[in-house]
Amino acid sequence: MPKPQRVRPSTPVLPTHARRQNLSLVLQALYSRGPMSRADLARTLGLTKVTVSELVSSLLDSGHAVEVGRTTEGRMGKPGILIDVNRSGLQTIGIDLSDHRALHAAVLDLDGTVLARAQRPFLLEEHTPGAAAATPAPRDGAAALALVLELVAECQAAATAPVLGIGIGTPGIVGRDGVVHTAPNLGWIDLPLRERVAVASGLPVSVCNDADAAAHAEYSLGDGGDDLILVKIGRGVGCGLIVGGSRVRGAHLAAGEIGHVVVGTDGGTPCRCGKVGCLETWVSAPHLERALASATTARLPGRAGSAGTVDAPGPVDDPGDLGADPLAAAGERLAIALAPVVAALDLADVVLCGPEHLVVPALVDAVERTLRARMLVRTESELRVRRVAEPDDIVVRGAAALVLWDQLGVA
Ligand SMILES: [Zn+2]
Repeated sequence: MPKPQRVRPSTPVLPTHARRQNLSLVLQALYSRGPMSRADLARTLGLTKVTVSELVSSLLDSGHAVEVGRTTEGRMGKPGILIDVNRSGLQTIGIDLSDHRALHAAVLDLDGTVLARAQRPFLLEEHTPGAAAATPAPRDGAAALALVLELVAECQAAATAPVLGIGIGTPGIVGRDGVVHTAPNLGWIDLPLRERVAVASGLPVSVCNDADAAAHAEYSLGDGGDDLILVKIGRGVGCGLIVGGSRVRGAHLAAGEIGHVVVGTDGGTPCRCGKVGCLETWVSAPHLERALASATTARLPGRAGSAGTVDAPGPVDDPGDLGADPLAAAGERLAIALAPVVAALDLADVVLCGPEHLVVPALVDAVERTLRARMLVRTESELRVRRVAEPDDIVVRGAAALVLWDQLGVA
């Protein structure tokens, strides 16, 4: 007997919804295909010329679209006027709160080109080795928010055209209403970030998790396929998941939050969450940097056992004990955590993203080698493991792309 189908509750489609959707369709067509005449738009969208003319008039009035010339192709009748999204006449602001050294913001055009930048230093306080069990002092959430508002104001001043909206990629779990539920590294608990920034700026604001923003950029602006996982190594470790071309959010909006999954049964470093051996204690940027520094120190001639040395010789005494090749070891740990996810969702694309000096071939190769060793991968091409194609500004660009999605309905 067939199982009863689940029916997704649907909201009634009001005329205003249909109109908004049609406006988005026009902008989406123009944004992805370039300038078109009203007649071509009508043909492409399957709408009447009268409807398209009315929609285009509205978009011209609001400044979302502009006339950019006339068609040159020899068609019957007089040449049509070409309409395009107001690419140079609208800008967006993208903000990345995930870097463990600074908060970044940028003004971008609609193609994702960065036009101006702003940043504020924001160092993640680290506990010292030997006091590894201590929890880092809670961040001053008000100070972090004040810096974000400063960045917004600076970008608004730097914008040379009307700003369509502000996109923010933040660590932590973000609710549908733009509330950041927990972002310990920023000192935020249930902070209504979208509302606070919208009130301060007078602009529409979109907020999402930083790894989701990066996955969004890779999917909509980059080389990403329809089934991908993007692992973002920064202050912590998080993932953005695209399955079947849709962003996965999960039952509690925390899909991809694998940073505090314990990897292995061999112990490890106490984590700030209270557990021991979380993925974050193996792979986050602060931990990797400390492990690299310790490995370098350990290799210095005469260090181990030399007269006057107080440190114990032997294995690197960094909290993660990642050994002499910390990046390869971290890649292996990461892949151990990823393999069941990649296999269960049958993902084809594993994309690694993080600081350039950390996401190096040694780490990427270790991830690929370990994944292939732990999964049933039928062919070489079935699984692609790679560093993100365009790592620069990926969260900023992804957050800005989110604004296009939310405000223009374009992916
Ligand atoms: Zn943890």
